[in-house]
Amino acid sequence: MACKLVETLEKVFKNVNGVSQIEGKYDEEAVRNCPMCGGILEFETTDAQGYRMLSPCQGQFALRRIRLYNNALVPARFMHATFEAYNLGRLSEKAGVEMFMREVKRYARGASGFLLEGGPGTGKTHLLCAAIRYMTLELGVPCVYVDYSDLLGDIRAAYSKNISETDVIEPLVRAPVLFLDELGKGRDKRNDFEIRIINDIINRRYKNPDLTTYFASNYRDRDTSGYNNYKAAGYGTPAWDDYAQKRWKSERFSSKDAFDRYVEVVMNQEYIEDRISDSTVSRIMEMANRLYINAPDCRRSAGKF
Ligand SMILES: [Zn+2]
Repeated sequence: MACKLVETLEKVFKNVNGVSQIEGKYDEEAVRNCPMCGGILEFETTDAQGYRMLSPCQGQFALRRIRLYNNALVPARFMHATFEAYNLGRLSEKAGVEMFMREVKRYARGASGFLLEGGPGTGKTHLLCAAIRYMTLELGVPCVYVDYSDLLGDIRAAYSKNISETDVIEPLVRAPVLFLDELGKGRDKRNDFEIRIINDIINRRYKNPDLTTYFASNYRDRDTSGYNNYKAAGYGTPAWDDYAQKRWKSERFSSKDAFDRYVEVVMNQEYIEDRISDSTVSRIMEMANRLYINAPDCRRSAGKF
């Protein structure tokens, strides 16, 4: 038998000032007459030593999970983001995202996070918000979502209102699971202020092995993009030509020329490392599994130049 609150609970999603909030509606009359808790959402039990104690009813847990979701500050645009609603069908490679979903569902304290990389429109924010929904409502884990570029704006606004930077950053440092979206989308490239803020948050979270951090970025990292490989293979030196001649077929390009043009793009792109410090990027790599979400045709069109 379940608490009447759980039996009659309906979760109504609302946009409150741009933030997705759940209003929990339930049959108040039925809850007042709940045979489990009589509407106080606690019931009396007797422990092994014969002491009587109050335990929270399932209804109380259900309301707590709704509060966790509301405190996570999911953007209203992603109010309906769930794993089920994510369109796996348009991905050229599904396995990575499926693994991401599996790992979220079996989250335990101290689990590694993820760094989702991929261009705009690949559904990274959808995946982050769906993960928050699952973790708060199904697992009861406190989560916080923050958009990196909004955060920088909030900190600047805090200065002008005499609110300390610490008050803005502290909840992000402490959150058991932090979702940091739009990593690297600062106003300026390698701006000192922005680098200091992000270093502070990441380093302090890194030091506490109980914390999990999920990141998403439109920028790629130099390692999984192939940049580091091509550089090591001598890109920009006379050795390169020989390497490219041997490699283009196994890298599935139509000609050496197409491969060269593809690599030229890779070598001249802006990376996460260009946006935040190298040391912070290496911390992130230790904290999170990297997952590149491949937009349809991305690789093929790059090879077609
Ligand atoms: Zn009850």
